[in-house]
Amino acid sequence: KYSCKLLVVGGGSGGCTMAAKFARRFPRDAVIVLEPSKDHYYQPLWTLVGGGEFKVKDTHRLEADVLPKKAKWVQDYAEVVVPGDNLVKTREGHEIQYEYIIIAVGIDNDYAKVPGLYEALEDKNSGVSTIYSPAYAEKTFNDIKSFKGGEMLFTYPNSPMKCPGAPQKIAYLAESYLSANPDVRSKTHISYNTCLPVIFGVKKYATELVKVAERKNIEVRYRTVLKAVRHDKKEAVFYHKPDCETEEPSNSQDIVYPYDVLHVAPPMLPPRFLRENACIADTAGYLAVDKYTMQHVKYTNMYGIGDCCNTPNSKTAAAIAKQCYVVEQNLLHTMENDSPKEKYNGYGACPLLTSYNTCIMAEFVYDGVPRETFPFDQSKESKLAYYMKRDLFPFMYWNVMLKGYYHGPEFARKIFHPFQD
Ligand code: FAD
Repeated sequence: KYSCKLLVVGGGSGGCTMAAKFARRFPRDAVIVLEPSKDHYYQPLWTLVGGGEFKVKDTHRLEADVLPKKAKWVQDYAEVVVPGDNLVKTREGHEIQYEYIIIAVGIDNDYAKVPGLYEALEDKNSGVSTIYSPAYAEKTFNDIKSFKGGEMLFTYPNSPMKCPGAPQKIAYLAESYLSANPDVRSKTHISYNTCLPVIFGVKKYATELVKVAERKNIEVRYRTVLKAVRHDKKEAVFYHKPDCETEEPSNSQDIVYPYDVLHVAPPMLPPRFLRENACIADTAGYLAVDKYTMQHVKYTNMYGIGDCCNTPNSKTAAAIAKQCYVVEQNLLHTMENDSPKEKYNGYGACPLLTSYNTCIMAEFVYDGVPRETFPFDQSKESKLAYYMKRDLFPFMYWNVMLKGYYHGPEFARKIFHPFQD
């Protein structure tokens, strides 16, 4: 049995960042991080792994090397939480008693929701891949590289997901790669099949992205949801999603598209830990927190951060950079028996790669309101944004954010826009 002042469940982007912030305030081992994996990845770079610019190993560090040395790492899964008793039980039978807890367990891929998908991903020669897993991200580039023309399909799922821009970024990279070989490109039809009625959730950027897709001759099929992969026949089965429905309507007809290469952004779901601990989750299984304070709606000594929360922001590492300051300050207030004061504004960012040297740097807050850092129109494709995404952000992640010192670009924004709030 362990006990601690602060238990951080999950040692990914959010958990590691919060552990760093609090480990340096408290004595050794006062912070416990409960994280099963020995590996830590910088996931945003998987898009460029799919585009062939990096290998998966370039996005990897050992968990032991990124967790703060003053925190104690328990390498195990959280299984049961008893919030009334301030207790977490682990898969291997340990019990961890805490005073305060931060939940940061992320979001999982749900391959099972698309019959045939997992088998196709596992088959090396299927032409089916996803940048949403380190196991298959290099396969994406292999498929693009060895493609000789035909049908190339990209999909966007009917579920909440992390980095909702990535499914189209990889389509733009693939198109740019193929364009270098006009013979192959002229024999290729590329489609982007999205469950959404729009190409991107923030109108300002959607307007430009529609033009990008048109210029690149990528057919965008809206409200089109992947439901099965028949990889022996190289067929992808879709359904049409009407506006008013959330799932597949019972009377829907299968739409079958043949493919030579299929890139899937899989449906996602909250980790089992949250789905099976209904006392801390909402009905969809996400951690139920206040969307401004990040404090749990029922348990005041519990906070959430990152993809596992039910806050209606874009699930990105950029969001975590902003949330981490809010959670830190509010948890400190809670520790002093005060109410939380800091408010998360829903900030999220999405560097939408449109080629191997251009990018649209989308930045926005709750309700899809743009909130841009730089003194130029960020909805336009820019080279600077590309190199920030490729070189600056990974550096910031490993060296500043995970050490608990990065709070998003607000300081830069104040310099460039001194008269805006
Ligand atoms: P994670 O970092 O996923 O960590 C969750 C951790 O919880 C994991 O380590 C897991 O092992 C652990 N865990 C799970 N279950 C349990 C349990 N029961 N007990 C204990 N621990 C558990 N973001 C951007 O800002 N910009 C981008 O351009 C961008 N592009 C992306 C492209 C791709 C292809 C992907 C996959 C992601 C991208 N993201 C991007 C999103 C970003 O990587 C995530 O939003 C961020 O990493 C989420 O952090 P997190 O801490 O919530 O979850």
